[in-house]
Amino acid sequence: MTRDRLGVAPGGWLGLLGGGQLGRMFAMAAQSLGYRVAVLDPARDGPAASVCDEHIAADYLDAPALENLALHCAAVTTEFENVPAQSLAFLAEHCFTTPSAESVAVAQDRIAEKRFIASCGIAVVPHAVIESVDDLARASDDLFPGILKASRLGYDGKGQARVADRSDAERAFAKLGHVAAVLERRVDLAFELSVVVARGSDGATAIFAPAENLHREGILAVTTVPSPSITPTLETDAVAAALRIAHALDYVGVLCVEFFVARDANGSLSLLVNEIAPRPHNSGHYTIDACVTSQFAQQARIAAGLPLGDPRRHSAAVMLNLLGDLWVRDDDGSDEGRQREPDWCAVLKHAGANLHLYGKREARRGRKMGHVTIVADRPDEAKRIALSVADVLGIARW
Ligand code: ADP
Ligand code: MG
Repeated sequence: MTRDRLGVAPGGWLGLLGGGQLGRMFAMAAQSLGYRVAVLDPARDGPAASVCDEHIAADYLDAPALENLALHCAAVTTEFENVPAQSLAFLAEHCFTTPSAESVAVAQDRIAEKRFIASCGIAVVPHAVIESVDDLARASDDLFPGILKASRLGYDGKGQARVADRSDAERAFAKLGHVAAVLERRVDLAFELSVVVARGSDGATAIFAPAENLHREGILAVTTVPSPSITPTLETDAVAAALRIAHALDYVGVLCVEFFVARDANGSLSLLVNEIAPRPHNSGHYTIDACVTSQFAQQARIAAGLPLGDPRRHSAAVMLNLLGDLWVRDDDGSDEGRQREPDWCAVLKHAGANLHLYGKREARRGRKMGHVTIVADRPDEAKRIALSVADVLGIARW
């Protein structure tokens, strides 16, 4: 279906729910297209606050604040997937809002998400829905060892517990407060990959090529693109699945589909969807430096009703996440530690290294403080330089 709409001309206002690093990078991309950006975020000092043109410090459910945003902005988008769906629905009555409340509601809830993806005929991780202790008693033995994940409000591995067996899972379920959850089989991961797709309100799509992702302790550590592990077949299948999901949701905005490449008992590989994110994604940060149009520029174009940009990758890239651990000295053994500034000069001496820091004042372990993307003409060259940057920063090799 084609839906024309009146776009927002540069100079106009775009609104954003959420003020984290994704919001900061969105604001920068929108501003470079000439837009002004209003951010609604409960925190006054989030990464987007210092770059946006107007900041509304309010709860996501604050009706006068939402009205203010809708009055100011001809279009609103989100960087935070846990924005209450009813706030998006409210905004959509007043201005062009992407993605839709319905799409975000699916991505916010692991149970609804898995059900939806399976209904598209796409394989998900073997799992059981756990809403009661009885559900746990009935869960198949095949799901152990597993991971119990709260259905809502998890991120960066939070709200999850690795469980060896059923009694472990019972304890973990109690610890989660018996909230609705999914029990997933712990799959033997050959590796992980993701696809970021941009889809406009006219149904046009632009796809960033699949990237390989390495997670450490449930948090993205390294993204590599192109990756020798991603065979042409895997690439075709992952892109087809991401497009099918985007179309089935009638999704408008930037969507990331995270996949597992699982190794079966007989050694063969299969592609499973892990989860979807209704926004630009950490694994798409490399697009800022390595693609003609970044994922954030796509988000701004979609909100403004402009044509999608070219997602073509012009360089090989390796993105390293910079977690707060790099700021925290280990030498006194405490978890707080002493703070020190990583040696940015040593990082930036590397040809092709692009540093992105999010302006967070306080570094904590596991907190995303920034990223560095190394670009080069050839993948082996990007990897070689990225390993050297990792050594300088004290990031473990891969
Ligand atoms: P989050 O919402 O925090 O990103 P994910 O469900 O994506 O949570 O889990 C984070 C990471 O933990 C994954 O990227 C993967 O590395 C690992 N993981 C999650 N679920 C499984 C699983 N069922 N089997 C093996 N590894 C998993
Ligand atoms: Mg994830």
